[in-house]
Amino acid sequence: RAKSAGGNRFELADPEADARVITRHGLTTGLPAALDRGEFFIEYQPLVHLGDGTVSGAEALVRWLHPQHGVLGPDRFIPLAEHTGLIVPLGRWVLEQSVRQARLWRERYGESTAAGPMRINVNLSPCQLTHPGLVQDTVDILERTGVAPDALCLEVTESALIGADDDLLKPLRRLAEMGVDIALDDFGTGYSNLANLRRLPVSVLKLDRSFTQSMQQYPADPVDLKIVEGIVALAHSLDLTVTVEGVETGAQAEQLRVLGCDTAQGWYYARPGPPDRLHELALVDATG
Ligand code: C2E
Ligand code: MG
Ligand code: MG
Ligand code: MG
Repeated sequence: RAKSAGGNRFELADPEADARVITRHGLTTGLPAALDRGEFFIEYQPLVHLGDGTVSGAEALVRWLHPQHGVLGPDRFIPLAEHTGLIVPLGRWVLEQSVRQARLWRERYGESTAAGPMRINVNLSPCQLTHPGLVQDTVDILERTGVAPDALCLEVTESALIGADDDLLKPLRRLAEMGVDIALDDFGTGYSNLANLRRLPVSVLKLDRSFTQSMQQYPADPVDLKIVEGIVALAHSLDLTVTVEGVETGAQAEQLRVLGCDTAQGWYYARPGPPDRLHELALVDATG
């Protein structure tokens, strides 16, 4: 940056940076009211069984329809929501909406379609983990909607759980005991000790997109193949399911299937979209 500014480190006339600051400020002031104004919405991205391509469920991904800036992705506002504490009510809202949606899917497909029972994945921010209401809020939402705990999977990033002490793990353990699945999201990007996995109440590993990207070539780099093979073997030996994210090509899907990954998610199957899109995809599966 210093170079592009003509070597003058104090020259700050960078219109892009200015725009970012202004945008950030605008976002910060609009954020607290956005939930009350109903400006958030959720897109759903299907998860498919790698074995037969049937839909197993979906991940809920929140968006903000900002009155001035249009649709904003979570990377633009989740950090602000965490910073301001809005993440707790926002996260609760996402959970409730998503579980309601899962209820509709399950009413529609029941437990015995070719696609199997519809499951819903919801992301949790580390701030929600330390909020004392998490377990009770989740129990209340499941009871209100009549959705079984095993239809719900809560995703927590690996980095949020690195070095987690027992206080942080306690709510996750209670949820896991109730039957809620806990997934370790973006796995492989942190520095967690693999042996540490035994300590965590997780039942799903979501391999980070960087592993999927290394399967772009066919055949992939032999070392990358060995690494993923090793992770999958370890995960399966600990009774964990392996999901891969960011699958964009058939070659990636095929190599990850051969390596033993269980489920997949990515643009190759479907982009995140409105809930009706998932109805269509699942219906195609269910009817062959
Ligand atoms: P994530 O949980 O790892 O979600 C996957 C991200 O990868 C999503 O980005 C999704 O749109 C994107 N993606 C899916 N398939 C592909 C693909 O084939 N190629 C590529 N390049 N990308 C793909 P998105 O929707 O922008 O979400 C970003 C992150 O924001 C999520 O990462 C998650 O950590 C966070 N997030 C989303 N919704 C929520 C929420 O309700 N609460 C919290 N706390 N975090 C959320
Ligand atoms: Mg996720
Ligand atoms: Mg992820
Ligand atoms: Mg990710």
